[in-house]
Amino acid sequence: MKQSHLFAKTIRNISDDVKSVSHKLLLRGGFIFPVSAGIYALSPLGFRVFEKIKNIIRNDFDQFEAQEISMPIVHPARIWKQTGRFQDIGDELWKIKNREGEDFVLAMTHEEIAAYIAETIIKTYKDLPILVNQFQVKIRDELRARGGMLRAKEFLMQDAYSFDKDEKGMDESYEKFYESYGRIFKNLSLEAVPVEASGGVMGQGQSHEFMLISEAGEDKIAFCEQCGYKANIEVLANAKICQKCKIELKETSAVELGQTFKLGLKYSRSLNVKFKDSNGKDNIVYMGSYGIGIGRAMAAVAEIHNDEKGLVWPQALSPFAAHLISLGQNKESDRVYTALLKSGIDVLYDDRLDKTPGEKFTDADLMGMPFRIVISAKTAVNKKAEVKKRNENKVSIVSYAELNNILQ
Ligand SMILES: [Zn+2]
Repeated sequence: MKQSHLFAKTIRNISDDVKSVSHKLLLRGGFIFPVSAGIYALSPLGFRVFEKIKNIIRNDFDQFEAQEISMPIVHPARIWKQTGRFQDIGDELWKIKNREGEDFVLAMTHEEIAAYIAETIIKTYKDLPILVNQFQVKIRDELRARGGMLRAKEFLMQDAYSFDKDEKGMDESYEKFYESYGRIFKNLSLEAVPVEASGGVMGQGQSHEFMLISEAGEDKIAFCEQCGYKANIEVLANAKICQKCKIELKETSAVELGQTFKLGLKYSRSLNVKFKDSNGKDNIVYMGSYGIGIGRAMAAVAEIHNDEKGLVWPQALSPFAAHLISLGQNKESDRVYTALLKSGIDVLYDDRLDKTPGEKFTDADLMGMPFRIVISAKTAVNKKAEVKKRNENKVSIVSYAELNNILQ
């Protein structure tokens, strides 16, 4: 992609109201555009990071056949009234009316719709278990939307749902997603620790949050230094004492990256999701739900992988494999750019003619691609380029042909 026509610009100065490191860096690097409080657009850079995150999740879910689907964002309120959540959830649930005055809600989550659809699909025990997943926008009318993508009003989420014939089946499905989340966060270069959590508005069953220990987080977790027990402080009663070791628990801030829930029969009972067992008798389906916020994952990566000059993307998440910079050598650089594209290497190509080398380097550091390739008069004469890793100071001079090997 040529930077001269990139639908994004880096920003030098950010308002003092922007507090979190990730929010600052994503704005400065030109990854996100604020549209309204807690509502953001993605530039091609941010969009590419989202796609990388989604594919890491997809590749893992494919291993245990969580089928990708897509559910709507506008839901008839009658389905939410059936589970009671239309009344139970406060102003966070965004309620709207159509022209006939009928109530609708904007998707805060999708348990209701997943159960509603499952009711038409699941007939007998032979249909179970079923695991489905989607990447879909969620809308929550947050009172305090802040911290950029760490707490937004509208955000993309991976949300999966499991349907099983009994509690044992639900536990097994839960285990699959729990294990999968461990692998996914590792692949996202995020050190997420699972902690005991409360089901909140989802239900009363067992739940875990995958937490990133960080000052930027709004959640508080308690942990035992002796046995490693961890829990969201919300689930602890007044006594903040480890039940096992009888010592006081320590506290730290954390960002919730994902959460898993054993929903049991809560939604399937009210929406009548039944199956016939081998004796032809009707039974209620056991459900689970599992979610990761994609924007929050991107922000969490930005929160951790950076330096004083800007973002430092892990290779697996970087919008481009490399940032190619032409210093007055566009003819030569055009050829290298085309050759790299032909080899299947995604590069952002700074072909701008009106920028100084200093401005180009500053932008490259802000955007944070893992490799910077510079073609100048000095290198071009020998058909070579200067290569530098974003997180290292060492510069090497390599031939154009060698670039492929380094970047692949
Ligand atoms: Zn303990």
